[in-house]
Amino acid sequence: MATTTDTATDTDTLAEAVRAGDRRALARAITLVESTRPAHRAQAADLLAILLPAAGGAIRLGISGAPGVGKSTFIEVFGLFLIDRGRRVAVLAVDPSSKVSGGSILGDKTRMEDLARHREAFIRPSPTAGTLGGVARRTREAMLVCEAAGFDVVIVETVGVGQSETTVADMVDMFLLMLLPGGGDDLQGIKKGIVEIADLLVVNKADDVMVKAAGRTVADYQSALHLLRPASSGWSPPVLACSAREKSGIAAVWDAVDAYRAALGEDGLAARRSDQARAWMWSEISETLGAAFRDDPAVAARIAACEEEVAAGRMTPGHAAKSLLARFLGR
Ligand code: GDP
Repeated sequence: MATTTDTATDTDTLAEAVRAGDRRALARAITLVESTRPAHRAQAADLLAILLPAAGGAIRLGISGAPGVGKSTFIEVFGLFLIDRGRRVAVLAVDPSSKVSGGSILGDKTRMEDLARHREAFIRPSPTAGTLGGVARRTREAMLVCEAAGFDVVIVETVGVGQSETTVADMVDMFLLMLLPGGGDDLQGIKKGIVEIADLLVVNKADDVMVKAAGRTVADYQSALHLLRPASSGWSPPVLACSAREKSGIAAVWDAVDAYRAALGEDGLAARRSDQARAWMWSEISETLGAAFRDDPAVAARIAACEEEVAAGRMTPGHAAKSLLARFLGR
């Protein structure tokens, strides 16, 4: 049986191997941060504490868009483009659908095969268990591990499911929304709130018969953004067109990422990350407290009854909450 000291030694060794860029150690470290077993959680927390000083050096880029818009095709081409320019690229996924169906919208390992084979790339599918909050926490932690391993561009990919886009926007430096060429002024059923949080919009599939439609879509979103985004924010999200299939317009996307980083500045970036870290702490507290509350035997024995009373209008929600909290707090 492993003693505490053995575990500590293991954690140190693992951290060292991660920092040295050992890929198997990186995969093992991410498996550890994804684990929900209490012993693993404790070791993961120690590992992250050791790795934290070596993290933070990457550009963190969120990419979202409806299934079929071309995210994986784009990320593969974009990733290879960046590697050509001396970057090291990690791709993580947040797909809350993967726990429901067992399958996942973002698909399996067959995606991005060329990129996945590359020594300078690391691709990790979404963790498959838990709430969006849990998946998000593990992705944030995986992001730090990748940074400590020397990856300097971390891409977090997600689909338009539930709150996943806002969750991802809250963990990255820049949020890119990918769109399809579509005529007229319809916004493709994309929630308006998502367009509002995007720092960059990219209309993909601007090729072949869709070039004209892509141009119109770019113009439509440019005018829509004038209304949605206050000019005072210091950054006007550009709307670009590209074709992942024909590898055109890819450099312009990277130029926009660079320009955004320059506009944000070191202080702006540090402020954004501090806000995110603070919010992350509070979401950890809520998640942990919520789970402890629901698992508390005295509370669990009464939850169903209280919910029923509240639903039937026989008890006020406030009263029910108070009585359950009193059980939890032992008073
Ligand atoms: P995802 O679900 O957003 O990851 O989308 P995929 O990358 O799997 O692409 C969905 C489909 O669109 C595939 O059949 C791709 O070959 C195709 N596709 C992706 N990018 C482009 C593009 O730039 N132009 C065209 N014409 N098709 C594309």
